[in-house]
Amino acid sequence: MRLILLGAPGAGKGTVAKMLTAIDGSVQISTGDILRAAVKAGSALGQKAEAFMKAGDLVPDSLIMDIMGERLQAADCQAGFLLDGFPRTIPQAEALKELLGKLGLTLDAAVSLEVPREVILDRLTTRRTCVDCSAIYNVKSNPPKQDGICDKCGAKVIQRDDETEEAISNRLEVYNAKTAPLVGFYSKEGLLLNVNATSSEVVVAQIKSHLGIA
Ligand code: ADP
Ligand code: ZN
Repeated sequence: MRLILLGAPGAGKGTVAKMLTAIDGSVQISTGDILRAAVKAGSALGQKAEAFMKAGDLVPDSLIMDIMGERLQAADCQAGFLLDGFPRTIPQAEALKELLGKLGLTLDAAVSLEVPREVILDRLTTRRTCVDCSAIYNVKSNPPKQDGICDKCGAKVIQRDDETEEAISNRLEVYNAKTAPLVGFYSKEGLLLNVNATSSEVVVAQIKSHLGIA
């Protein structure tokens, strides 16, 4: 399948993407994970992106399109892809449309994960992330078995440094201003699927039913 996952930070895009990869081998492509890995590695990309990310601001569209232009042409994308955190602005959506046209690929849907603001705030402040495999935990509802250690890979589980109260509130503002308009964009494209995303299991079931997967 080829899907875009839209939704505010904390809507569950990453969790849903990970669940969907198990269905047909489609790959999860998270621009956030790619950027965090680049920052950790200290690459040229990471050095350019770091300050934007720490403040909860968007990384410039040109950098993101460089990453995605290359990523979408990698061999593993032939099984399908789940775009998690991209596109994030109207110019990125337009550039993606052009890129997919060139590659001769169509999207199955742009899924908008709708979650009430209170739930988002609660999820983001209690979210913890594995530094290595980016597995997602929650201190209240889904803590790792051993405090601070990833169940899957044994690496450290931390609170991301853009998950301070200030950076979170900025990320939500940036989301409303820059990313929320993509819902209208994909509605016009005839690709929009709105889902209530309070439960990730329900989101996956709705996507499967929309795509006609048993
Ligand atoms: P979340 O969806 O939880 O906010 P992500 O992991 O998707 O977090 O992104 C973390 C940060 O990486 C963003 O706040 C932003 O700085 C940067 N980023 C990720 N994807 C994009 C994108 N498509 N365009 C611009 N910046 C991005
Ligand atoms: Zn891990």
